[in-house]
Amino acid sequence: MKKNIDVIVEYLDRLFPDAKTELYYENDFQLLVAIIMSAQTTDKQVNKVNKELFKVLKNPIDWLELGLKKIENYIKSIWFYKTKARNIYKTCEILSKTDLSVFDTIEKLQTLYWVWIKTAKVFLSVTKWTSVLAVDTHVHRVLNRLWIVNTKTPLETDKKVEQIFTREDLARFHHTLILFWRYICKSRKPLCVDCELKNVCKYYKNNIL
Ligand code: SF4
Repeated sequence: MKKNIDVIVEYLDRLFPDAKTELYYENDFQLLVAIIMSAQTTDKQVNKVNKELFKVLKNPIDWLELGLKKIENYIKSIWFYKTKARNIYKTCEILSKTDLSVFDTIEKLQTLYWVWIKTAKVFLSVTKWTSVLAVDTHVHRVLNRLWIVNTKTPLETDKKVEQIFTREDLARFHHTLILFWRYICKSRKPLCVDCELKNVCKYYKNNIL
């Protein structure tokens, strides 16, 4: 198992040596807002909105002064914009009174309005405040395809990964894994032909061989 994990981590490092988030942001607060917006939406769509918005909305006070209705209007091209606008607004209310740097753990971030465990983990990984792996359906799919876990749900996978990976691996793996599922190990029609992980892949063995 350890040998396979080393092979997988090393291969993804080679594939994506400069892996980092594809979300656009200029400071940690904007990153958190972008992550809240990105649930069930592509980074590309979120960036399209935020490239303009973040030029003027740089901190929680800016968003509060804009007001909820206008936030809704500016982000209405994003899925679930009404819920996300409300979540951003409520989060800004808290962050206008307490500095974001105080929320430096998963547990503390989750006390912010509607910040899910995945949102918290993505934020901590990208800011490098701590090394964690955010598990969603995509990460769950790839880790199961590669035999790293044998689980039924993302939640179950999430509980396992911290026991399997070292902190050092998690810091890099979070970013390389996102790019891997997004561009290569896709849900439908993964690009197996050129993938060097065929030998350690359950999906390849069961579906392609
Ligand atoms: S062989 Fe295919 S399914 Fe397996 S990890 Fe590579 S791209 Fe994904």
